[in-house]
Amino acid sequence: MKVFTDITSLQNFLLPKRRQGLQVGLVPTMGALHQGHLSLIRQAKSENDLTVCSIYINPTQFNNAGDLEKYPRTLELDLALLSTQGCEVVFAPTDHTMYVGNQLIRLDFGYLTQIMEGRYRQGHFSGVGLVVAKLLNIIKPNRAYFGQKDIQQFFIIRQLVRELAFDVELTCHPTVREPSGLAMSSRNQRLSESEREKAVGLFQALALCESALKNGESWKMAHQRAVEWIETEGGIRLEYLELADGDTLEILTEWNQNKQAVLCIAAFVGEVRLIDNVILF
Ligand code: AMP
Repeated sequence: MKVFTDITSLQNFLLPKRRQGLQVGLVPTMGALHQGHLSLIRQAKSENDLTVCSIYINPTQFNNAGDLEKYPRTLELDLALLSTQGCEVVFAPTDHTMYVGNQLIRLDFGYLTQIMEGRYRQGHFSGVGLVVAKLLNIIKPNRAYFGQKDIQQFFIIRQLVRELAFDVELTCHPTVREPSGLAMSSRNQRLSESEREKAVGLFQALALCESALKNGESWKMAHQRAVEWIETEGGIRLEYLELADGDTLEILTEWNQNKQAVLCIAAFVGEVRLIDNVILF
């Protein structure tokens, strides 16, 4: 496994491979890898000749300095895990490599930045868009892989790729969960044992909403039922629970059973902010 920290040597390695016609898959991550990341790596490996995993904690997507500071950093472990998966290339740049010189560009994704994550995390998606655009330009992959767990991020990246005509195929990979139902996340490392048990409540609240809707309840009723359940359980501070259109992510006030929709949740468990979602068919 080759590990690069600078752009030129990475590109010097990739260019001849691309000229030979080898297909390159990219899995962008912020490290602290878990089985969710590894399943993206496995999919990338099965569909490409060469898989590049980037590990970079992108400061411009953190709207909260404390969150950035406490984000888990486990590079040595990550590299060991990636080599067990047969990942061929790792790109682990420094901030200086990614953000050289005066950075003036800010990205605005319209309504996509005004709802859910965008509403609660000012500037977050501009940072996500910038770093993904940089990675796509640097690595020029044929395919790039993202997780459904961060579904709004996927919509942002899809918009970026469509509007700026990046020549890359995107994949949204299903969320990998713990046996309890808890969505795997690097941030779970910051949860205590009892908080980890509480955190399953995000998925349980989504499941409760889903079955209420599928039983014919209105969104208002389903939402209220889930909020009351969260309050009775305790230990979770809800930020939002929204029903969104499966094609556009626009916020819905009612579920049309003939159309795909997404139930999205964000909540604090202790000091840790977690998100999750389920797709309704
Ligand atoms: P992160 O390191 O958290 O920025 O995540 C890197 C990529 O892995 C993103 O595209 C995430 O959506 C994806 N990812 C994170 N957690 C999971 C999970 N539990 N299942 C599938 N993909 C995930």
